[in-house]
Amino acid sequence: MENTQTGDVKMPITYEDLKQSLVDSGRPYDFDMIDRAYALAEKAHGGQRRRSGEPYICHPLSVASILVELGMDSESIAAALMHDVAEDTPVTVAEIKQKFGPDVALLVDGVTKLTQIKFSNVEDRQAENLRKMLLAMSQDVRVMIIKLCDRLHNMRTGDAWPEQKRRDKALETMEVYAPIAHRLGISNIKEELEDRSLHYLDPVGYETIRDLLNKHGDEFLHTVCHTIAKHLAENGIQKATIRHRVKSIYGIYLQNKDFEEIYDIYAVRIILENVSECYNALGLIHDMYHPLPNRFKDYISTPKPNGYQSLHTTVIGREAIPFEVQIRTWDMDRMAEYGIAAHWKYKAGITNGSSDKLDERLAWVRQLLESQRSSADATDLLSDIKSDLLPEEVFAFTPRGDVINLPAGATAIDFAYAIHSAVGNRMIGAKVNNRIVPIDHKVQTGEIIEIITGPENRGPSRDWLNIVKTSEAKNKIRNWFKKERREENIQEGREALERELRRNLMSMTDEQHETFME
Ligand code: MN
Repeated sequence: MENTQTGDVKMPITYEDLKQSLVDSGRPYDFDMIDRAYALAEKAHGGQRRRSGEPYICHPLSVASILVELGMDSESIAAALMHDVAEDTPVTVAEIKQKFGPDVALLVDGVTKLTQIKFSNVEDRQAENLRKMLLAMSQDVRVMIIKLCDRLHNMRTGDAWPEQKRRDKALETMEVYAPIAHRLGISNIKEELEDRSLHYLDPVGYETIRDLLNKHGDEFLHTVCHTIAKHLAENGIQKATIRHRVKSIYGIYLQNKDFEEIYDIYAVRIILENVSECYNALGLIHDMYHPLPNRFKDYISTPKPNGYQSLHTTVIGREAIPFEVQIRTWDMDRMAEYGIAAHWKYKAGITNGSSDKLDERLAWVRQLLESQRSSADATDLLSDIKSDLLPEEVFAFTPRGDVINLPAGATAIDFAYAIHSAVGNRMIGAKVNNRIVPIDHKVQTGEIIEIITGPENRGPSRDWLNIVKTSEAKNKIRNWFKKERREENIQEGREALERELRRNLMSMTDEQHETFME
């Protein structure tokens, strides 16, 4: 993968270029629909230009061409071409629906909605909620994939942005979009998003690493792979699949070590038929190259806690550049790529229970994406994943922009108690996107909800116990009544005692009263 930003001037992409890449892909694309989508977008964006001076249409064309590389379907390509018309031109989603049908319209609408969400600053605490909310808002996972390609192209051309905007976009990309690309298993987009963000956030750090990487270049890896394949074949391992990668600039940056101390900048992966071939290949590799001490790990006999299996070793050849070799079977490879204990969880250390279901679903999405990319017949499997990605959760904003995460079916009252019990206890009404709604309004993902509060001594209503959905709200309401009743009970008890005393024509001073109570 080529991540480095080169200084040479590229010709702006044309529709002919895009069509050529569609033809070259060998997939049965719906050229009629894509032609019509391009014509509409071209006309709608008309004389608009990007900040860089390019005609605006270059942007949707570029986004569409990234989607072709990902192996996405005709509807996604058409929607990508039109993804900015609803936001920036008089063309409406209704018009797109009428001309292209509900599916393409839903994609365009989804991307438009995601684009309208602006996070001014992404705090760590909020980042995971934001990611989940965006996924939930996507409805159809293709919306998120188009959005990721949109963001990627914007980051590629971000040099035209003012300094502050570059940093804001870079932070948002790093915190929100790159992790989503990671969870969807689109690792080359994830890595490019991170590298380009780093370039804006720490230009010096970025350029230092890039220069060191350029010194070696990856022709070196091509030679190594070729040599290994030949040697394995000569020794009876015919069906080896050999892949290689260069660690991303951001990946190296994160290690925070001297370049020479990072041994996995270059890596070769050998995928084989069975376990005995794996050990056999390991022997052959150690014959060819000099293994570095203490770098050999047998995760086949002792898998990692998440089930990951592979043989790892680091070797060094005549070029004096160390590289890591990973050897595994196809089963182990699939487990590593798509396993439910998916390596993102392992690496990111996500342990809370609620993300498990999401991860299972995302693992499924990743498998679909992979089969979409590798199979020639473009099926629309992906469109089947209308967002039951997060069917049991909704996400709404406070007016300050904090994201509140609630179970589906939760009401505005739950929302109020999720902010703070004091907000819930004083609640007298709610506004959604600036309109008054009933307090039992069911929260929908993406809504901005403002809770209207009354005086401090105002309490909740007992009826609310039948309305709220979360146990948090229920407990807080019950607690309020318990506390309230304690005072009521004391008052009632005192009155009852006084009545009894009066009935018996007795009276007590306060002092006597206290002795009596004891
Ligand atoms: Mn765009």
